[in-house]
Amino acid sequence: MNNLLGVEELSVGFATRGGMLTALDGISFSIARGEILGLIGESGAGKSVAGAAIVGLIASPGRITGGTIHLAGERIDNLPEEKLNAIRGKRIGMIFQDPMTSLNPLIRIGDQLVETIRRHLGLSPKQARVRAIDLLAETGIPDPASRIDAYPHEFSGGMRQRVVIALALAGEPDLVIADEPTTALDVSVQAAIIALIEKLCRERGTAVLLITHDMGVIARATQRLAVMYAGRIIETGGTESILGDSRHPYTRGLMQAIPPLRARPRRLVQIPGAMPRLVAMPKGCAFHPRCAIAEEQCLQFRPNLVGGAHQAVACHLSRAFSEEVDTGSSKENSVNQGLRAVDLIESDRPPL
Ligand code: SF4
Repeated sequence: MNNLLGVEELSVGFATRGGMLTALDGISFSIARGEILGLIGESGAGKSVAGAAIVGLIASPGRITGGTIHLAGERIDNLPEEKLNAIRGKRIGMIFQDPMTSLNPLIRIGDQLVETIRRHLGLSPKQARVRAIDLLAETGIPDPASRIDAYPHEFSGGMRQRVVIALALAGEPDLVIADEPTTALDVSVQAAIIALIEKLCRERGTAVLLITHDMGVIARATQRLAVMYAGRIIETGGTESILGDSRHPYTRGLMQAIPPLRARPRRLVQIPGAMPRLVAMPKGCAFHPRCAIAEEQCLQFRPNLVGGAHQAVACHLSRAFSEEVDTGSSKENSVNQGLRAVDLIESDRPPL
């Protein structure tokens, strides 16, 4: 496969008085041109740290402590700041959760777009304005020739996120990192934004790293996914394979927490406990305090990611777990009992 982005054994640490805390622990993945890779996990799993590391935005006292990042064959994790600045926006576009963190509320959106286009593409002011109107049209802003002179507060949340996507595309990047791009939006706008990202990916061949905690978004938009837990990738492979046959108890727990969209409402389960803090990372498998099928070896030894491109998993008991769940054996019951059942049917959590 023609990989655009290659991340190899990437580690990120934060220096503290008590020593170096590991936020990313040797993660590896790649993205091909025109592909959407989903990075999923709870808050604190390390997803956003991974996105920030790729664009060189790890703030001090954090730093990359190991591994490499290649973009189109060029190593970028060790570049000086001015070279990274040239890559940001031009070769890698970014879409963040809150559009207002990307847009200056005091400047008309057209001026923000024109400035970005001129900086990255070197067009004249007139050419850049034409390009800005085209970009707004491409991202679904109605009547872009007149809306271009509006201020951000004159747009709805969904329209602002479309403007942010236009800004991310202004430098005609090869790669877009979309960090929770739909979290602040209501369900119907979420679907429209995901459809827009898919369309741009298809038509422009842009590669997308889609960071989210939402399995529904992953299922809809991605071809491959990587599940993160406590700074590591614990399951990865084709989205269909993983959604159809997840081999890691944590991935399966995430899926059991999704409300069914069309089937009859059912009791949902949630994974007990919380993501471990960096200062108190458990020995062995970091998931063991929350895992209903943990055995002695899980408490002592950290499982490696084992498998192929189709599906790989980091769990000592993945094979046994998968077989037992497939046959509906007693171990599945213990898994489900371990994942504390809670009735969320009446909750206002939006299905997607
Ligand atoms: Fe659970 Fe052990 Fe697998 Fe970790 S290695 S997920 S504790 S069974």
